[in-house]
Amino acid sequence: MTRSFTSGVFRFAPSSNGYLHLGHAYSAMLNFLLAGPGGGRFLLRIEDIDRERCRPEFEAAIYEDLAWLGLTWETPVRRQAEHFDAYAGALAKLTAQGLTYPCFCSRREIMDAVAGRAGWPRDPDGSPFYPGTCKHLSRSELQRRISAGEPAALRINMEAATVKVGRPLIWREIGPDLQSREIAGEPSLWGDATLSRKDIPASYHIAVVVDDALQGVTDVVRGEDLYLATGLHRLLQALLDLPVPSYRHHALLRDASGLKLSKSARAKPIRAFREEGLSAAAVRDRLSPDLVFIGAP
Ligand code: GLU
Repeated sequence: MTRSFTSGVFRFAPSSNGYLHLGHAYSAMLNFLLAGPGGGRFLLRIEDIDRERCRPEFEAAIYEDLAWLGLTWETPVRRQAEHFDAYAGALAKLTAQGLTYPCFCSRREIMDAVAGRAGWPRDPDGSPFYPGTCKHLSRSELQRRISAGEPAALRINMEAATVKVGRPLIWREIGPDLQSREIAGEPSLWGDATLSRKDIPASYHIAVVVDDALQGVTDVVRGEDLYLATGLHRLLQALLDLPVPSYRHHALLRDASGLKLSKSARAKPIRAFREEGLSAAAVRDRLSPDLVFIGAP
């Protein structure tokens, strides 16, 4: 593998809820190559906040697959499930600014509330915008339900949050041609997004901005499916006074029918290629045409 030389801090942050596929291998290798041995750092982070779906055997398989591909990373590896206190601190900071509210609604109740409302907006993940039911609860009703121990999610009040920030949420996006452009994020595409769930005390969005800041990540290199999420991440960084990394949203690997490789679409795991006798070098070669755009230092 050839490497380019930069001195940034890069990370690969898989969720331990399944086996890695070639799309993950590509993203991990790209980060590893960009970090390079010339002062750059490559971190691995296990995104395991979803305790229901994440499993130790998937985490072990991540280490095994990445090592097989020839990657090395710094230890100890940060596991998100060990840092819920850090995410709670960030949520408390947002709440202290009056920018969050508890939400008691179930998914079913939200679906029912928006059913039949033609053209009701959806966020980039396809979930309907929250209709605001719990945003307007009286203080006494809120207190009553909280004291009764009713489980609640926490939502961002998007309107109040964007007003509070009051400036464009710019990030530097580095393209495949290595040119950088300034992008203005659009967090409002997410509506009153959840920052914690009833069953998980932090959302991906809050955990990722907190961790990237705590780990000193300078370059976030991840799939283009997260491009629109970066607008929401920029908003959270601005509200929490966190540093802003550069971003590079790379193209996703697709199968022969053009479908993006994903765990949910049962993309073939890297380990299945290994079990079939394919060498790590062959897998790297297979991915390297997509990696050539890393370019010269
Ligand atoms: N954990 C996310 C995933 O596996 C990646 C998050 C990120 O790179 O920001 O898709």
